[in-house]
Amino acid sequence: MTAAPPVVVAGAGITGLTLASELDRAGVPVVVLELSAPGERTAAGVALNTAAVSVLERRGLYEELRPFALPLPQVHFSLLWLDPDRVGGQARYPHLLPQSRVEERIEASLGAGVEIRRGHEVTGLTQHDGGVRVEVTGPGGTYDLDAAYLVGADGPRSAVRALAGIAFPGEAAEASGLVADVRVDFAALPPEVFGARHFDAGLFMGAPVGPDRLRLITTEFGRPPQEGPSGPVTGEELAGAALRIAGLDLGPLEPLWSARFDDAARQAEQYRAGRVLLAGDAAHVHYPLGGLALSTALEDALNLGWKLAASVDGTAPQGLLDSYHTERHPAGRAALRATRAQTSLLHPTERIGPLREILREVVAFDGPNRFLVDLAGGVGTRYEAPLPEGADEPHPLLGLLAPEVELATAEGPVGLHSLLRTGRGLLLRFTDAPLDADGWKDRVRTVTAEPHPELDAAALLVRPDGHIAAATDDPDTLHHALTTWFGEAN
Ligand SMILES: Cc1cc2nc3c(=O)[nH]c(=O)nc-3n(C[C@H](O)[C@H](O)[C@H](O)COP(=O)(O)OP(=O)(O)OC[C@H]3O[C@@H](n4cnc5c(N)ncnc54)[C@H](O)[C@@H]3O)c2cc1C
Repeated sequence: MTAAPPVVVAGAGITGLTLASELDRAGVPVVVLELSAPGERTAAGVALNTAAVSVLERRGLYEELRPFALPLPQVHFSLLWLDPDRVGGQARYPHLLPQSRVEERIEASLGAGVEIRRGHEVTGLTQHDGGVRVEVTGPGGTYDLDAAYLVGADGPRSAVRALAGIAFPGEAAEASGLVADVRVDFAALPPEVFGARHFDAGLFMGAPVGPDRLRLITTEFGRPPQEGPSGPVTGEELAGAALRIAGLDLGPLEPLWSARFDDAARQAEQYRAGRVLLAGDAAHVHYPLGGLALSTALEDALNLGWKLAASVDGTAPQGLLDSYHTERHPAGRAALRATRAQTSLLHPTERIGPLREILREVVAFDGPNRFLVDLAGGVGTRYEAPLPEGADEPHPLLGLLAPEVELATAEGPVGLHSLLRTGRGLLLRFTDAPLDADGWKDRVRTVTAEPHPELDAAALLVRPDGHIAAATDDPDTLHHALTTWFGEAN
């Protein structure tokens, strides 16, 4: 048996790495076990929606990535193009950026408290009083690892989910997808290769992911994956899909890396079973359209990280860890709903064509355009925030992500989200009223700023994930929120 870390995470994908980063910020040591050997993992994603970019910005991880990101002028809902410029307020543009680059950035930011073991697979687990014994199969054989908590961030076919006995109900796949990177001479390619396009037979997408590398992503409707080939994707298969779907003759192709995917839509019944938790694709899978998969995974990690850290260090109030399921299960369901609505609008064209035409006219109006831009961007998640008995009407911002506004402080202007980089709670005070978090100094940082028109309250309590836990001028309401989310005062 190896020395016991408080938290073991299965999977060093974007979810596992982000969760490790959150725990690291909170000073909780973590071991991440990753099935694939060093250098073996390739992540398929290329599109980051507004919510995904916002998570990375809130943690100060996006500045170095921004020069490599390609902002897109439009957002789509089921490839119906929307106009983010007409929404106003904060920019809501999706960015094209390879997921693998984001993962590299997160990994590079990790401190010494995170140990990643690649080539180590979780093969068993036993829960006991006070912990989980994790069975691991690594290059040197099988060993056990004791931890207080195990998080399954091990993707769609999660072994942790199965070992914990958590059901994964949903819709079976009806479409087959191929993703592959091929070496190309960009100058020799027809322009139709680039971008995402919708045809009667499926979707075709091409995105540059390197100076001579093109990522091809194809989806064929009405071809359940179980009826097609399995194993590594061949060049002929890829070229055949491009021809059948988009009528594109791409000549001989040699996949440098490839994978298969489908449009199954499933969600774990529970995100927590005792000391085992699920996050990211282990908790929810859907057809990868529009960037909701990554934003939902990143937000799972941000929601879980501080709650798990507080549970490990013993400051978590009653029910805090359970609120991970209560808050994130509906968010996952909403992502599945938004994605399934989009796939329903793609096929078969002869049936949904007229509906798409009408929707195209509907999104010319500002209201529907705004609604769908926010839906596709993963914006607008609101968590329940309990109020004390007899409290005033809830503030309209309560439970929402704090807006990114510039605050005037004694130290000069500062963006609200930059105050969240440490991953701690934040009390923003806008008056001299007796509103403080003095008993929670170890968990909540206090910043005094000039009142801001968008934040109409005397004080704002912001959780580590950026959501507003209190917006009030009442000391009792603030005290109630502090104990609800951060536990008892010292
Ligand atoms: C073709 C395609 C294109 C996509 N494009 C986009 C996009 O543009 N935008 C978007 O938002 N999303 C996209 N997605 C979805 C996105 O890639 C996933 O949602 C995301 O990778 C989920 O991250 P994860 O860390 O939860 O899971 P994964 O990325 O699946 O990572 C899980 C990790 O766990 C490891 N693992 C598995 N079993 C074990 C075990 N037993 N023990 C230890 N480790 C284990 C795996 O090796 C893997 O590295 C796309 C997906 C596909 C297939």
